Amino acid sequence: MAEPSSTSPSVTSSESTLPPTTADVQPMSERELKEQKAFNNWRKTLSRITGVGLTPEEFKEEVAKADRKQCELQREQLVKTSPGVRFMMNNLAKAGCPLTKNMLECGPCDATKSGGFSNHHGILLCQNGFFSKKHMEHTMIHEMVHMYDHCVFGVDWHNLRHHACSEIRAAALSGDCNWTREVRRGFYTFTKQHQECVRRRAVLSVEANPKCPSRAAAEKAVNAVFDSCYNDTRPFDEFY
Ligand SMILES: [Zn+2]
Repeated sequence: MAEPSSTSPSVTSSESTLPPTTADVQPMSERELKEQKAFNNWRKTLSRITGVGLTPEEFKEEVAKADRKQCELQREQLVKTSPGVRFMMNNLAKAGCPLTKNMLECGPCDATKSGGFSNHHGILLCQNGFFSKKHMEHTMIHEMVHMYDHCVFGVDWHNLRHHACSEIRAAALSGDCNWTREVRRGFYTFTKQHQECVRRRAVLSVEANPKCPSRAAAEKAVNAVFDSCYNDTRPFDEFY
């Protein structure tokens, strides 16, 4: 039979050394106080503008809601008015892989991405990843080229050369590498500017493939197929 716990001297003494569980017992550090004060001031300003008091989580949610609304609105506009987007949608339908509305989703992504294609779910547009409507248009066409390649050429995404070929075509045909975007990135050169941009972007995308072991392997795959894939502009007649 166990001894009654009251006979053990450790019980009461260990209880008395437990740290306090309520947060307000522990004082804030100097830095935390400063941050809290800055946030409170900022929130007051925000509340004056919006008329509501928001916690940081609520504010984040509001931003996400606004991002999604903006993304969905621009998606509608681009589907109606962008010649490149409409052209790709028509060609996907002709190829037997129509892009339906529920395959073109707006959603949050990590900060480095603007879009993605999955052969199971379709195209994801990163609602927090666009710095302009033009950028979103290029991203839509870029992902549609991937979808087209998957549908028409049966790309094996685990094969780095296959992946490289589709990235080269997507970068070249989407407008990702048009002049103004390149100037903004500071990579502008007079000669071969477009090709170098396509090559650089394709390498970065292939490098992100879980099957790719290194930057060198990505470069090797891109170089191996560059000329033939760069010059294959299907379904476009030439670069958009
Ligand atoms: Zn891509």
